[in-house]
Amino acid sequence: MTSVKEQYVIVGAGPVGMYMACLLSKEGYEVVVFEQREDMRGTELQHGRSINLSLSTRGIEALMKINAETQAVSEGMPMSARFVHRCDGTTYTMQYGTNGESLISVDRRQLNELLLNIAEQEYGVKVHFQHKLIKCDFENGEIVFERSSDGTQIPVKIDMIFGCDGAHSTVRKEMMRCGRFDYCQTYSKHGYIELIMPAKEGHKPVLEEDFLHIWPKCQFMLIALPNKDKSYTGTFFIPFETWDQLKTKEDILNFWDNHFRETIPLIGKDRIVEAVMNKEPLPLITIKCNRYHLGNNCVLLGDAAHAMLPFYGQGVNCGFEDCEIFHEMMKKYNGDFSLILPEFSRTRNPDAKAICDLSEMNYLEMSSKVNCKWFCFRKKVERFLHFVLPWFYIPLYQMVAFSRIPYSDVLKKQQRQNKIIDGILMAGYGITGAVVIIGSFIVYKYVNSHLCTITCLI
Ligand SMILES: Cc1cc2nc3c(=O)[nH]c(=O)nc-3n(C[C@H](O)[C@H](O)[C@H](O)COP(=O)(O)OP(=O)(O)OC[C@H]3O[C@@H](n4cnc5c(N)ncnc54)[C@H](O)[C@@H]3O)c2cc1C
Repeated sequence: MTSVKEQYVIVGAGPVGMYMACLLSKEGYEVVVFEQREDMRGTELQHGRSINLSLSTRGIEALMKINAETQAVSEGMPMSARFVHRCDGTTYTMQYGTNGESLISVDRRQLNELLLNIAEQEYGVKVHFQHKLIKCDFENGEIVFERSSDGTQIPVKIDMIFGCDGAHSTVRKEMMRCGRFDYCQTYSKHGYIELIMPAKEGHKPVLEEDFLHIWPKCQFMLIALPNKDKSYTGTFFIPFETWDQLKTKEDILNFWDNHFRETIPLIGKDRIVEAVMNKEPLPLITIKCNRYHLGNNCVLLGDAAHAMLPFYGQGVNCGFEDCEIFHEMMKKYNGDFSLILPEFSRTRNPDAKAICDLSEMNYLEMSSKVNCKWFCFRKKVERFLHFVLPWFYIPLYQMVAFSRIPYSDVLKKQQRQNKIIDGILMAGYGITGAVVIIGSFIVYKYVNSHLCTITCLI
């Protein structure tokens, strides 16, 4: 145990903030967490906060460091493959991993509560709820929170601040005021709403289990992730423009009937109408920054540093990995933040940008490409190549979800692999074409010579 007197403050008690709190307290650092919301363990679910997360290797291995993986995984549901409900009504499955690996569908709130419990009960972390960060004076090491119960402003002295306050981070906004900070935010043209598909009578699942179900419709898409109670949490992604056209009950039911007819009995007409009419779709944002630190006492982690679209299911996985990497650097440089912070920004930045780009690209794959037979054939060729030459070819999904290969290396490797696959498929085309031409020529010659013989005989 390191004996340290410094006060480390974590802003945000989301999954990333609470995971970082556990890692630091485990090493003996004094950690205090401030969270603007009230304690979720005693509150009702808010719209948009009930989403399921898919945990994969990066997230699960990170949780192992605080012995939380067994409980997190046991509270979740495995998903070994995509179950695609094609536009033409046919279905098929596509395995995620090449060695039978599964993603784990977990309730985000349940995961967050688990981390809160571990941090408080096992590591003695103090969490101040209803304290909203409003101001940072990084130079003098002082930040100010507002207590929502009475509006009191509370100044707090810090030696180090961890900005784990999500996509709309106040820590990041305060860093930006200090100059030379590149920042880029892009809203997706899609928003999302959640729809519950309850279990059937007798506690039976409404859909085949062990899968992430997708109804890909190019411009919009419905996905459903399994829950422990046999229900499914559906997430409907739709462009805001299309949403604006769904005004009346008839509009909504016609739309659903045209595009997702088979899900009507699973969700129920009333629930569909209620969800679409009474909710606004929530926005999806990508955030990229050129660095994640300021001076010697501030760092951004998780969504605060790099929010991404949810189409690779890597947001939390990547956020936990940030914490692990940062923590390893703290050990390597013996807690010297003048070395750790620039090194963390330098090394983590390309990886975070790569997974933001990969997540954006994956929308096209989930919403359109999976409908295409050629795409499925290509995936089979990739799996075959991996089977015969596992060191040479690793499918993209395998690298992202079931390996610890840095995301930037994944992106580079995939660009090389794409060329290989294109080459093989082109060569396959070429050979098939050549065989057809030569075959036709031989047949022509054969038929021609036999026709001559027959003609001579006649
Ligand atoms: C539809 C959807 C599906 C997703 N699916 C997946 C998935 O399958 N797998 C996956 O890994 N990820 C997924 N994600 C992403 C994942 O939800 C996020 O990456 C993750 O929640 C980020 O965690 P975080 O702790 O960094 O931020 P958050 O979860 O946003 O937590 C930030 C916390 O900081 C608090 N806070 C904010 N401002 C202040 C302030 N000024 N003062 C004090 N506290 C503050 C907030 O109240 C919040 O509690 C999905 C996201 C969406 C939208």
